[in-house]
Amino acid sequence: MTKVLKMSSSSRQTLTREADLDFDVGRVRADFPILRTRVHGHDLVYLDNAATSQKPRAVIEAISRYYDCDNANIHRGVHYLSERATADYESARKTIQSFLHASRPEEIVFVRGTTEAINLVAQTYGRQHIRAGDEVLITAMEHHSNIVPWQLLCEEKGAKLKVAPINEDGELILEEFERLLGPQTKMVAVSHISNALGTLNPIATIIKMAHAIGIPVLVDGAQAVPRMPLDVQELDCDFYAFSGHKAYGPTGIGALYGKLALLERIPPYQGGGDMISSVTFEKTIYNKVPHKFEAGTPDIAGAVGLGAALEYLNDLGMANIAAHEHELLAYATDVVSAIPGVRLIGTAKEKSGVLSFVMDGVHPHDIGTILDQEGIAIRTGHHCAQPVMEWFGVDATARASFGVYNTKQEIDALARGVEKVRKVFA
Ligand code: PLP
Repeated sequence: MTKVLKMSSSSRQTLTREADLDFDVGRVRADFPILRTRVHGHDLVYLDNAATSQKPRAVIEAISRYYDCDNANIHRGVHYLSERATADYESARKTIQSFLHASRPEEIVFVRGTTEAINLVAQTYGRQHIRAGDEVLITAMEHHSNIVPWQLLCEEKGAKLKVAPINEDGELILEEFERLLGPQTKMVAVSHISNALGTLNPIATIIKMAHAIGIPVLVDGAQAVPRMPLDVQELDCDFYAFSGHKAYGPTGIGALYGKLALLERIPPYQGGGDMISSVTFEKTIYNKVPHKFEAGTPDIAGAVGLGAALEYLNDLGMANIAAHEHELLAYATDVVSAIPGVRLIGTAKEKSGVLSFVMDGVHPHDIGTILDQEGIAIRTGHHCAQPVMEWFGVDATARASFGVYNTKQEIDALARGVEKVRKVFA
């Protein structure tokens, strides 16, 4: 049985809840059928969790059970199956509410994922509130999906996208961020954890700074939801976006949390069935929140799968998961950075889940290809964060990212693989 070590004092920022010493990674691994895959004669070592995580049997079975027993279209039917499907879908919404500690299920809007959630806010709240000359403030470490939707909005409105800089460790320079907050700022959008660097942003402080002058904050939680305990009420964020598939749930489903009063005031995102309460050719009355934002038949099975994934994470305990991944990251940082020629990209004091690195004289794609021959899956490229790659003066990095089922033995395999790469290119 693998015991979880205590977290170092530097990681107390948000990972403060007590970890349970019974977290058993062997038992966790048994829940993921795909981990038995053999790759090029090796056991699969899956270290690409920041791109997408694998699915536990509980999720696969929940989706299959939904199609076996409950499938029908939701909300509009009076028959037995439609009522069951509706109950499943709405129960998944409640699971997400309680996972995020939102105050009401109405504050959870189902979307395709983080990307759609951010586009939704930009195209609704953003279009309603942002005018020519206004500013949207993001950071230099954002994923493209927290850059481009704001660029589209700014282009349309004649507004400006402002970017708060980072330091050489990949940490947000808070004083600069605060300096950029001004009377023209109408929206702040920041990632909770950077997918390219692993930086854990001081999100509570960022929100306080923005709220001090009345600016709403959207948090991109794509990498944080699967990695740490969350409480949107305690954070006091206005919007929180995440994807199911990075949190051990299915692809094609995710959620946007929004404060109820805000969601009620902003216009719909898309028009169609289910988002209306009545339609005539003269006038349409919109449905109430959250249905106002859920036009058309949603991914019902996906919502069921996402609910099952979050219940699974709850059973493991988010504090346990945070502690486990913290220990893996600390270990991986030590062993990988000790390999000659390796340079870590992203050395923030507060980090989670992600180890990005480059090697002298080796393109990251070659690292990924050689590791794949050893059965090790990592991601190489710009990680949809080209501006931050440019800031570090690289086109791409190799990125190992950790999940609930990873072990120190797998990190040893990674280190052996990286050593092999070094020898091939020596
Ligand atoms: N934001 C961050 C920090 C991410 O890591 C990702 C995906 O890698 C996204 C947003 C976009 O997520 P999705 O493609 O699931 O919409």
